[in-house]
This record gives sequence, structure tokens and C-alpha cells, in this order.
Amino acid sequence: MNKRLFVSDLHLETVDSPQYRGLCWLLDQHPEHDLYLLGDIVELWIGDDDDAPLATALRDLLRSRQAAVYLMHGNRDFLFGAQFCADTGATLLADPHRLNDGTLLSHGDALCTDDDAYQQFRAMVRAPAWQADILARTIEERRAFGQALREQSRQTNANKAANIMDVNPGAVSDLMRQHQGKRLLHGHTHRPGVHWEERRYVLGAWERCGWYIEQDGDTLALHCFSLAPHCGSETPHPGA
Ligand code: MN
Repeated sequence: MNKRLFVSDLHLETVDSPQYRGLCWLLDQHPEHDLYLLGDIVELWIGDDDDAPLATALRDLLRSRQAAVYLMHGNRDFLFGAQFCADTGATLLADPHRLNDGTLLSHGDALCTDDDAYQQFRAMVRAPAWQADILARTIEERRAFGQALREQSRQTNANKAANIMDVNPGAVSDLMRQHQGKRLLHGHTHRPGVHWEERRYVLGAWERCGWYIEQDGDTLALHCFSLAPHCGSETPHPGA
């Protein structure tokens, strides 16, 4: 089995960012790992026809991978579709996805069942008819609409109690039971850590640090590296 590399919640906005440079560095360090992008890789994905510099660079970066690339939707990039997969060679995974070793993968937002308003919003934007309607608009219209959604989500979340935006323990144990999971790996909550009793590994959002999980056989490890050295640096070296 190839070693695996899991990341989520990079929230990439520009090519010229510590996060994007950190991703390039991380992939460079692990050229033969199967890569799992578990959602919210970009802050906003408006459709596979996006020709902005970040979208173009991301396609090129993923296409250049020798090992497999898997992609799961997050709550920001649920419009990744068949064209993006064809362009990059990535395989789209359903949420949740069970790996052959019993590892369950999820972005994590579906597990935040205490947040009723968000779950309603999620059901709306994941509906094929809603997505078809959005994708029928011009790129400029979609970009403006996406910005408005982001602003709205920022304002709503600011007024929510913190525990509402975490995963619900019952939803986690239900998922594990239902899919006979050996462990669960997710992101989204921006609360990185390993919860041994639940066998739950949580990826962090890429803010000051880049977070990833490396799997080698039955061993999983959560790592972070500083993104700070990237700021304005020509030669990114997060390990420094
Ligand atoms: Mn998320």
C-alpha cells in the first residue's frame, strides 16, 4: 500500500499565499504518497471552468502528481465536478468514504448536526437542481454570488456558540457503527487533534500552520508545519 497524505481546509485564495506555497512544498516532500484532499482546499470554487490564476495553478499542480489524487467536497468547494477530475486525474470521493483498511473519511460538516441552520443550507447547496442553476450563470455572476454567500456565512457563524460548530458525538458514533469504521479522519471544525477514545483524527485549517496526516500502514500521525517562513519568501521552506 502506498503511504497516504491527507489534508483539508487550506482555504486557498491566491497562488501568491503562504498556504499555496506550503501545499507545493508539502507535495514536493511526499511525491509518492497518495493524496487525499478532504474538502475546503479552496475558499471558494465557482465551477470547473474557472480560469483564475489559482484554479489554473491548482489544476497543473494536481496533474503533475505521479501518485493518486482523491478529492472530497467541503462546504466551500462543493462545486468541484467531473471536468476538474478529468483535468487533474483526481478521483472524486463521496462523503463519507470508507478506505479498504476501515479508515472513514469525511469533510466533517455533515457531522455538525447541532447546527440546524447550516444543515438546511447544506441540503440546499448540495441539491443537483440548485447546483445546475448556479452553474448556468456566468463566471462573474457566480463569483459575486459566492462572495455574498461567504459574507453571509461569516456573519451567521460569528453569532453561533462554538460547540454548535463542532461535530456531534452521536453523529460520529453512528457513522462509525454504520460503516464499521476502524477510525475516522475529518477536518472542517478547525480543531485539530487526535481523540484516541473515539479513534478520531481531526485535520486543522491552514492559518499559521499547515496541517496534514500521514498514514503508513496502520500508523497515522498528525503533523503541522509553520507557514510563516513563506511570507514574502522566494524559497519556501516550512521545515525551517
Ligand atoms: Mn469546512
